[in-house]
Amino acid sequence: MRLTKPGRRSRPARVRRGLGWLLAFAATLVPLYLVFRVQLTVTPEAALKAGTELLAGKKVLAIVGHPDDLEWYIGGTLRRLSSAGADVQVVVATSGEKGPNRTGVADLPGTREREQLAAAEINGYTRVRFLGLPDRASAKDPRFLPGVQAVYNEVWPDAVFIFDPELPSLPYLHVDHQGAAHLTLTFWRTLGAGRPPVYLFQSRRPDVAVDISGVIDTKERALAQHVTQNGGNGAGMRGLFGGSAVAVPYAEYFRVLR
Ligand SMILES: [Zn+2]
Repeated sequence: MRLTKPGRRSRPARVRRGLGWLLAFAATLVPLYLVFRVQLTVTPEAALKAGTELLAGKKVLAIVGHPDDLEWYIGGTLRRLSSAGADVQVVVATSGEKGPNRTGVADLPGTREREQLAAAEINGYTRVRFLGLPDRASAKDPRFLPGVQAVYNEVWPDAVFIFDPELPSLPYLHVDHQGAAHLTLTFWRTLGAGRPPVYLFQSRRPDVAVDISGVIDTKERALAQHVTQNGGNGAGMRGLFGGSAVAVPYAEYFRVLR
């Protein structure tokens, strides 16, 4: 007969307890993973087809929080649109004065605006509008929505690009990204019938894919203009814009609302 020391669980009991913890851990993590992973909601073929439709846009309006957001998230798509002759108008809500400031320039917002304009030149944007709102507080600023509405009514775009405020991919979230996009999306929903499609980027449930393989070098060069942010190296983006989900080398993804 084998005796177990008093106060100490037998090995099978400890194993069962360990397994129980493991199962509880998995039961928590697996649903979280399923909710927050990035996953196409349509077939790769359908996503690429929707991407081709997106590229037929003639006048598009993209609204972001900071200089470098456009080039990081949708620079390839905007470059393809401008190359196809589209009028690409963009709004940058803040001039990014909260940094980082990797090169230690004295006038960071002014420098970041100049970096944005240099990137716009490479990507072929027709016009860049800076709203000049406070960094990390644009969504709370009462001037944000009137500013966006005024630009919208002036441009009258046939497609709008904003961050996905409802189903963003993790981990990087920012109040000037999702917070401000939420306001813009609420405004877009009031537009009713005839409104243009809105393409939401940094989404975890994309249904549109744009093949940017042919412009990945241009995307990198445009991003590299933001020297205060990346030291002039735009290559860090490549690993995050792989196109394996749609069987191309590089892609940018969107969730479209109509
Ligand atoms: Zn940003």
